[in-house]
Amino acid sequence: MSKCSICPRNCNADRINGEKGVCGVCGEGIYVSRAALHMWEEPCISGRSGSGTIFFSGCNLKCVYCQNNSISRGICGKEVSVDRLSDICMELEKKGANNINLVTPTHYALHIRDTIVKAREKGLKIPIVYNSSGYESCKTLNMLNGLIDIFLVDFKYIREETARRYSKAKDYPKAAKDAISCMVKQTGSCRFNNEGLMRKGVIVRHLLLPGHVAEGKEIIKYLYDTYGNNIYVSIMNQYTPVSGMDEYPEINRKVTKREYDRLVNYAIELGIQNAYIQEGDTAAESFIPSFDCEGV
Ligand code: SF4
Repeated sequence: MSKCSICPRNCNADRINGEKGVCGVCGEGIYVSRAALHMWEEPCISGRSGSGTIFFSGCNLKCVYCQNNSISRGICGKEVSVDRLSDICMELEKKGANNINLVTPTHYALHIRDTIVKAREKGLKIPIVYNSSGYESCKTLNMLNGLIDIFLVDFKYIREETARRYSKAKDYPKAAKDAISCMVKQTGSCRFNNEGLMRKGVIVRHLLLPGHVAEGKEIIKYLYDTYGNNIYVSIMNQYTPVSGMDEYPEINRKVTKREYDRLVNYAIELGIQNAYIQEGDTAAESFIPSFDCEGV
């Protein structure tokens, strides 16, 4: 981390000596904004008792429409050590969590590797979920090989221009494709327990953006052509514009029901069987938890 290349930004920040990378974090600590049971992931992740979700602060992608921008912009929350983070995992398991769900973990990958090893030594039994934007480097993912049970990964853009405009990451499409390939190699095809909870596998999420049905279709087709029913696809309709989006008028609205239905119908026509879709109006802020350091 003294010349950080953990993610595809490769910004070479000297994080150890206080230089912030694009992800907005520096120092040797880990910043966590919330660690609690969370009911709003896909049913095979949340189950009935909830996913033990740990929200990290900072993010290496920084989309202009980020719903969690109160924590993604940089350092906030509470600083914890690897040892404390492994205890937090144990506490979530005791509360009945179905899994440990690491949200936006990329820039803490080194700490996370050590945390998982430590938590397993302490007796952690539940699966580890790596919940990421998809802007990952394979070198870093390979370092985590064998430690992650489930990847819950976004595939946001397949067109470079969209990735450049909304996340200043023209290389996102290639990085995400390579990352998903590494993830599928690591976990193999999806496996579930008797209660329908995922134990191993990859779920790729696509959050449909307003006016971007055609790109959404390209993404769904790419995933189905490449992985068939070896992965699950989750097609999401909950995009909600945040304040300060005047520079992006084309996405300064919610996705319409018609747009979402067009994408879902396309997935059905392709023959996708392993998919999650959302019903009703899920574009509500109530799905965003409060980042009040609960459980940290
Ligand atoms: S993890 Fe952060 S500091 Fe490291 S390369 Fe990515 S953006 Fe830069």
